[in-house]
Amino acid sequence: MNVDEQVSNYYNLLLKRNAGEPEFHQAVSEVLDSLKVVLAKDPHYADYGLIQRLCEPERQLIFRVPWVDDKGTVQVNRGFRVQFNSALGPYKGGLRFHPSVNLGIIKFLGFEQIFKNSLTGLPIGGAKGGSDFDPKGRSEAEIMRFCQSFMTELFRHIGEYRDVPAGDIGVGGREIGFLFGQYRRLVNQHESGVLTGKGLTWGGSLVRTEATGYGAVYLTNEMMAAHNDSLDGKRVIVSGSGNVAIYATAKAQELGATVIGFSDSSGWVHTPNGVDVAKLREIKDQRRERVSVYADEIKDATFHSTGSLWSLTADVALPCATQNELNGEHANMLADNGVRFVAEGANMPSTADAIEVFRERGIYFAPGKAANAGGVATSALEMQQNASRDSWSFDYTDSRLQTIMSNIFKSIDRTAREYGHEGNYVVGANIAGFRKVADAMLAQGVI
Ligand code: NDP
Repeated sequence: MNVDEQVSNYYNLLLKRNAGEPEFHQAVSEVLDSLKVVLAKDPHYADYGLIQRLCEPERQLIFRVPWVDDKGTVQVNRGFRVQFNSALGPYKGGLRFHPSVNLGIIKFLGFEQIFKNSLTGLPIGGAKGGSDFDPKGRSEAEIMRFCQSFMTELFRHIGEYRDVPAGDIGVGGREIGFLFGQYRRLVNQHESGVLTGKGLTWGGSLVRTEATGYGAVYLTNEMMAAHNDSLDGKRVIVSGSGNVAIYATAKAQELGATVIGFSDSSGWVHTPNGVDVAKLREIKDQRRERVSVYADEIKDATFHSTGSLWSLTADVALPCATQNELNGEHANMLADNGVRFVAEGANMPSTADAIEVFRERGIYFAPGKAANAGGVATSALEMQQNASRDSWSFDYTDSRLQTIMSNIFKSIDRTAREYGHEGNYVVGANIAGFRKVADAMLAQGVI
């Protein structure tokens, strides 16, 4: 059997066993495609059912999350934790609270997390979790009761050496606080190493809040430098306006770029003269309002509920909102309007079609598993600080983050060249992330 047939057999079996999970299929398909060159060169990577084991989570937890809303009505949500792979270290990956959450979405995120965590060079395995709970429009007391109920089941499956969750969409510092409080109460111990993204006075790390957005921009700058370019003086489109988008915007502007647009699920804002980051944070983080309010309050900004953010003329695009938000048509718009570099702050925001267009039209593209790895890397730095009962300065932690992002870029760039795909950072990231996990799995036997 040749490698193409071998890989297509793995994939067909996966489709059959995981029906109705398109995002998971998409994530696996992209990785398997990149692995063809590895299997052709090093067939031992298919030994001992390695590929089938890699695509099957070690453990998948689904649980009921009952809670009482402010009107006294019982609400029932579904909780998930997919512990995908712990060959390199304890499971690590965020929790997402969003109505779109289902098992397939958590599996795609958990699968991606394995390779991302491997790329950081730190000893962390891959996992993801969350719930179909919708925090929008809920009071703080409702969110607290939901988090407490969610943790009342999750607590028995996590721990410093077992599984260390963090935030993601819909789970920020406030939710991590409620989750940690309930965990501490249930186990009767202050185990700070059990969650990351904590508050600074109770085990959190400086730079964790900023890390994913900053890291995405550090990696973008490395990628641009490799092609004799830089962010200085460039126009940048950032989608989303949550944690990742806000800090990507802040860092890009600090490095001399102008962020000319951002968005949320209600529409997008054109900001030709750059973003007032303090104002955006106030509106999104503190007042928890929609992006249209930014355009109401800032003179040169305009809000659009139709059309596409990706139609703006720019040099760089950083999709930082959610999966599959940028399709082939959008990718062509970006290419037509001058974009040369794209880096994913979000997880899998570009569809397979979009990635194909980037390749055909000569756009340099850094996939999320490399570009947004700064968040989980800084979570691992938070774990190190917790384990040594220490806390590091902002500048020191930020310098560690910069070094990690620079090493990730070097590794994906080198690996892409090694396998004859120079400049293809999808191939580079998938293979570099894979090899480390695969070597550990082979060394540890069939488990
Ligand atoms: P947040 O919840 O803080 O923000 C998400 C943002 O995306 C919001 O502005 C939201 O708008 C917007 N959004 C969601 N769906 C859409 C849509 N269909 N169209 C346009 N905008 C949309 O999440 P994060 O910033 O933490 O996460 C963003 C992405 O980054 C996710 O893919 C996440 O998995 C990934 N990521 C996050 C990390 C982290 O450290 N936080 C680490 C690595 C990856 P609205 O308010 O309208 O829903």
